[in-house]
Amino acid sequence: MMHDYYFDNNATTKISTGVSKAVASANWYLTGNPSSIYTIGRESRDRIDLARAQVAKLFSADSDQIIFTSGATEADNAIIHSALLQNSKRKTILLSAVEHPAVKKSAHFYENWGYKVIEIPVSEHGLNEEFLMSNLSDDVALVSIMAVNNETGMIFPVEKYFKEVKEFNQQIICHTDAVQAVGKTDIPLENVDYIAISAHKFHGPKGIGCIYKGKNMNFQPFILGGSQECGYRAGTENISGIIGLEKACSEVLEQKGVSVIQEYQRKLEVSVGNLDAYIVAKNYPRVPGVCNIGFAGIEANLLVLKLNQKRIFVSTGSACSSQKIGISPVIKALNIPEPYRSTIRISMSRYTTEEEVNYLIKQLMQIVEEIRR
Ligand code: PLP
Repeated sequence: MMHDYYFDNNATTKISTGVSKAVASANWYLTGNPSSIYTIGRESRDRIDLARAQVAKLFSADSDQIIFTSGATEADNAIIHSALLQNSKRKTILLSAVEHPAVKKSAHFYENWGYKVIEIPVSEHGLNEEFLMSNLSDDVALVSIMAVNNETGMIFPVEKYFKEVKEFNQQIICHTDAVQAVGKTDIPLENVDYIAISAHKFHGPKGIGCIYKGKNMNFQPFILGGSQECGYRAGTENISGIIGLEKACSEVLEQKGVSVIQEYQRKLEVSVGNLDAYIVAKNYPRVPGVCNIGFAGIEANLLVLKLNQKRIFVSTGSACSSQKIGISPVIKALNIPEPYRSTIRISMSRYTTEEEVNYLIKQLMQIVEEIRR
């Protein structure tokens, strides 16, 4: 069987052996509905409570601050909904111009209901802090700034921004989508009211994630129905998913450094340096193992397809938009120079090996030269 060279870990990661076993075992042994009062129901309930306590450790939080969701898209949507209800008299939402669609589309949806959405410009030098500060007002209900950008790997100093926001007005709710931070850099916690994460971005199962809720947040449910998740999120719990998330979180907490991936990233970036290539946000703090690269005059989709023929899997833009041809909105927002605007994203994980990186570099160099010829 041919080896797969998987370099699209920001889209999703492969499930770890430990997580896979935990999920399989949960599916096998935890069959009762956690809301049922008989023994097998209570066993499921107790196991979920254990998992919740473990997931809370990722945020140095208490169990009651964790709400399980179907992933980060739901978490982001639910957080925005809740924040707007909690601050119901305020009608302005501030967010970075490079948020994932789970935040962006969700926020813009509320324009239909009279809200004003202001996007804070972002360049390769980071978020325009002055713009953020000058747009704060007593009408701002929510500020949403992601911890790590999914397309470029840029790490935003969210705690610093939120400190300034809170100094301006304590009532403004501060949300960060930390999906791409887990296992790669610290999750911002100070001055943060809400956090969204997703298990499949750090070797957990797909379709499970959670909301971290600040202690004094008056969370308003987005999904209504039964009284699961203390009434915060209705619907029978995804028990095996929750246990998979728990295991993925404990593996992240046990994991030691990411310096090897950093070295692979450096090697890759040095190699493509000779190819008239542009590395997006090269000099800005980025998480290890994420490179967004434009090759002058080369259409990213063609490059992705050519690499695919060699069983090397990379993406253009974010996973959800990779089916669409065109320039990614993040690349547009960052104002990347014209000949390099069609970019590919290469993203590694703790399972990426040196041999895989060497193969990628070799093939990438050959294909770029071949297309240019
Ligand atoms: N937020 C960011 C930054 C992401 O990268 C993604 C996934 O691509 C999401 C949210 C959506 O996560 P999920 O797939 O769990 O809905």
